[in-house]
Amino acid sequence: MDPIYDVAIIGMGFAGTALAVQLMARLPQGSRLALVSGDGAIGEGLAYATRNPLHLLNVPVYRISMMPDDPHHFIRWLWSRQDEGGDGTIPAAGYSYVERSLYAAYVRSTFDRAVAERSGRIAVRPVMARAERIDRSEEGLHRIRLADGRTIDSRFVALCLGNGIGPLPLPPDRVAAEARGRIIDDPFHDARLAEIGPEARVLLVGTGLTMVDTALTLAERGVGALTALSRHGLLPQAQVEPRPTPVQPVEIDSPVPLTALFAMVRGAARRLMAEGGDWRAVIDGLRPKTQRLWQSLSAADRRRFLRHLNAYWTIHRHRMAPAVFERLAALKDAGRLRVVAGRVGAIGMADGRPAVSLRRRGTDVAETIAFDWVINCAALDRGNLIGAQPLVAALYDAGAARPDPIGLGIDVDAASRLLDAQGRPGPGLFALGPPTVGRFFEITAVAEIRAQAAAVATEIAAEIARANGSAEDARAL
Ligand SMILES: Cc1cc2nc3c(=O)[nH]c(=O)nc-3n(C[C@H](O)[C@H](O)[C@H](O)COP(=O)(O)OP(=O)(O)OC[C@H]3O[C@@H](n4cnc5c(N)ncnc54)[C@H](O)[C@@H]3O)c2cc1C
Repeated sequence: MDPIYDVAIIGMGFAGTALAVQLMARLPQGSRLALVSGDGAIGEGLAYATRNPLHLLNVPVYRISMMPDDPHHFIRWLWSRQDEGGDGTIPAAGYSYVERSLYAAYVRSTFDRAVAERSGRIAVRPVMARAERIDRSEEGLHRIRLADGRTIDSRFVALCLGNGIGPLPLPPDRVAAEARGRIIDDPFHDARLAEIGPEARVLLVGTGLTMVDTALTLAERGVGALTALSRHGLLPQAQVEPRPTPVQPVEIDSPVPLTALFAMVRGAARRLMAEGGDWRAVIDGLRPKTQRLWQSLSAADRRRFLRHLNAYWTIHRHRMAPAVFERLAALKDAGRLRVVAGRVGAIGMADGRPAVSLRRRGTDVAETIAFDWVINCAALDRGNLIGAQPLVAALYDAGAARPDPIGLGIDVDAASRLLDAQGRPGPGLFALGPPTVGRFFEITAVAEIRAQAAAVATEIAAEIARANGSAEDARAL
């Protein structure tokens, strides 16, 4: 008979792996942990599965430790590799931006070490399969149904499902069926990108960090005619390290309406720049308060923010590594990358190529341009992609979970517990990372996810300890 697990984690990208490491440090002896991963990989997920050395972390190494209470954990790991003859030079202060594949190796190695340290005390079982449903069993456990027909019973389940990849932001009836083969919906699908020849004209829909990765990948393969298009045509800003201006703590302690908040932040950045300082110090100073500020906004203000300000916020908050910024600038200077503000209206087919009808920002005139390929670099930008997952859709249908009020992801409480259709925290179900963006907003990067993982692990371990204590008390009676 299959064992009953104490905790099952579904999805083993960064969030699932960080949670597993934190749980292993906290769960009592004899606990069982099931790690369900669709592709069998641990610690990679969308962000860190890349093998391309041009794809760098957008945060310097001193700020991206996996452990919330040990900021130098990653740097020490890098140094230990160097001692063993590893490649690359990591400056003592940690102001460098390493390859994302190296970060994946670090996450994996941290996980492996945690497993080895708790071996014999905690049973860890990797399960390679997609999870398709979660139901309640008669015994009150969560029964996870896997795509291969197996089931797993667990007392606690953590959904670490990532973002999900969305389709091109165009109604399906605006895309000619014949053009479909020339549209790449998933920009992380390397084999599809490899189909693009050097002479191709390529439209990249989206101008954020996903576009930047894709442009660098294609440019390296010799593709020289790239056009990146988004509503505002804004590119992410560059990081500057060491920080030219110390982070400015932001003094906003009571709820403020969006317009006042925007004026305060812009005013603070302008004042700092007038004094010769760097605006990044204000944006970075906001970060510890962003979750609280987001939660203090009304639902209407949150929607307004997403519609009108998010594009500006994103390029200032999610910045590129300096080397990536320089490579992108060189592509633009060489005329190999054009950035256009506008909207795609439709994609037809003419002379065997996608004919893209677009309207530039500020004009009413539609123009049609022929490309060889269209790549959806806005694949992560759409709200509530996760609701399209059968696993999540089934939870919504059963009333065991619900979408958050503005439709960005799964609704959770402050402890990351799923809220049921009536808004009550359900027993033993948690979500971490991007699916919880509706509640926390600032929850998609390592710094926030590692803290969330530690908090959820503490909560689960405390409940298990309480339940074990009650069982022992009952036996003693
Ligand atoms: C390209 C990119 C670069 C980034 N760079 C940085 C950076 O430099 N610094 C930083 O701080 N942050 C960065 N981030 C943000 C952050 O690190 C990621 O968002 C984070 O990795 C999210 O991890 P996750 O585990 O929640 O999701 P993911 O990494 O997407 O992992 C989710 C996993 O769950 C699996 N899964 C989903 N559904 C199921 C199912 N039903 N059954 C089984 N498995 C399932 C998926 O296959 C996937 O492996 C980056 C993000 C991206 C996308």
